[in-house]
Amino acid sequence: MSEADIALILAQPFFAQIDTQAFPAQMPLADILSHDSRIVRYEPGEVIIRRGDYGNSLFAVVEGTVRVLLQSPRGLQRRAPGQWRRWSRAFASTFGSRRRVENRDLARYQIQTGGTPRAAYTRIRDLDRIVAETQTVPLGQGEIFGEIAALTRQARSADVVAETPVTAVEIRWQGIRDIRRFARPVRDQLNDRYRDRTLANTLAREPLFAGLDAKVIEAIASESLIETYGEEDWYLRLQKLDLAGRLEQEPVIVAEGHQLDDVLFILSGFGRVTETVERGQRTIGYVRAGEAHGLRELLEDLQSGGIGLRRTSLRAIGTVNVLRIPSTLVEHHILPTLAPGQLRPQQKSRAGEDSQRRLDFIVDGRYMNGTATMVIDLARCTGCDDCVRACASAHDNNPRFVRHGHSEANLMIANACMHCVDPVCLIGCPTGAIRRIEETRTVAINDAACIGCQTCANSCPYSNIRMVEIRDTAGKPVLDADTNQPIIKATKCDLCFDTPGGPSCERACPHDALIRMDMQDPFSLLKWIER
Ligand code: SF4
Ligand code: SF4
Repeated sequence: MSEADIALILAQPFFAQIDTQAFPAQMPLADILSHDSRIVRYEPGEVIIRRGDYGNSLFAVVEGTVRVLLQSPRGLQRRAPGQWRRWSRAFASTFGSRRRVENRDLARYQIQTGGTPRAAYTRIRDLDRIVAETQTVPLGQGEIFGEIAALTRQARSADVVAETPVTAVEIRWQGIRDIRRFARPVRDQLNDRYRDRTLANTLAREPLFAGLDAKVIEAIASESLIETYGEEDWYLRLQKLDLAGRLEQEPVIVAEGHQLDDVLFILSGFGRVTETVERGQRTIGYVRAGEAHGLRELLEDLQSGGIGLRRTSLRAIGTVNVLRIPSTLVEHHILPTLAPGQLRPQQKSRAGEDSQRRLDFIVDGRYMNGTATMVIDLARCTGCDDCVRACASAHDNNPRFVRHGHSEANLMIANACMHCVDPVCLIGCPTGAIRRIEETRTVAINDAACIGCQTCANSCPYSNIRMVEIRDTAGKPVLDADTNQPIIKATKCDLCFDTPGGPSCERACPHDALIRMDMQDPFSLLKWIER
């Protein structure tokens, strides 16, 4: 980026307010912008952000107008993954060709041979009609958008389209992170925008707030603090982190022994729950997005007459965004609406040694990220590979997982996509080919849109994405028209989304040794593995 570009960015209202003196000499604001931002230009009708994509950048309009489309036009919606598979199968059956390992139909790769990743995005031709007929919001010079998905690692919640020729600054989340770290007003401003624009709607979708009316939720949103803890790029360093020191390195969000004057609601990320034992801290559980820490303690205290001290600590695992809700609001509004079974059972204060090691293994390895983690009981697994064969037969002879993985005693987490709560593999995919399907909560790869850049494979901290070389239906390597190099694609477990009955691996195991499990509750897993 040129000095003129940096000067242009710094002149924009969002950046002009930033106190450049607040940045350390070795990391001036201009350097952050130079590394993590770029000037982008769009033609009228060009889609800048697409609903459902996994956001990792914020935009500031320098020139022109964009439209936020609150309802997705039909043409912009992605095809459901089931349609991709059905289409390819229909093709295969029509022409009677038995597809070989990693063979693909070339017609699906127009995007790859046609140029840059942006070609994968759509242009809207009848934007005027959409603006006239549906709810949209115009944003002009100086306004920012996309910050919520970038900060909370959620899917983009709306489409944003250029209405006129648009020049904008795009900042990657790493740059936003650094700016927020040193420029407190920016952090407060972004948090305020999040609170004003989205928080109440986000909370209204959560079971914990289901019994509250909109006004109460808005009051909770406005009186609670949004806080961020931990390292945002944990997934790039997970395999290198020292297991022994992980707990000590995690920032403390609330500490045991302190006054229980608020409840922590997890907006995104994970928290480790610990308690003090003779030789330090011991993990007794974890919380994920949508769960709260301190709720049961508060309830018990109120039942016994008064609010006391915290019995456990909460630490940030990776990066976590929390909402700190004052206990008085929880007491008056949330607790009275909770159904009896809605609170997590009390975590065992004294687990057996084997259970404790397994719990540490799950938390240290961040396996609680999985909603469909492949767990194998090594005491029952005979190595027959029926699971692998079943997977291969459901995926044109390409097994989508490896029956290996990290283990603790008889508990093994196999190298199969876990369909994570926080699917960090989505960060940075230049075409949006890898994405979360909100309806099924699975993470899927659109094979036709994948350009084989490996960003997802490098980002998955569990090594669950494999890059494969593609061949045509005759078995010949498919070469990129521009580079003459073999085309590479990312592949991984798709949870047999189009197979009645669920994942083939689980159904195929004749020894009851393999299960796909949501790791929300560690004690279900421990019960299964210790059965
Ligand atoms: S590819 Fe990796 S990070 Fe992405 S959802 Fe699967 S296990 Fe999680
Ligand atoms: S390799 Fe992964 S990150 Fe790159 S385009 Fe394909 S799905 Fe996206």
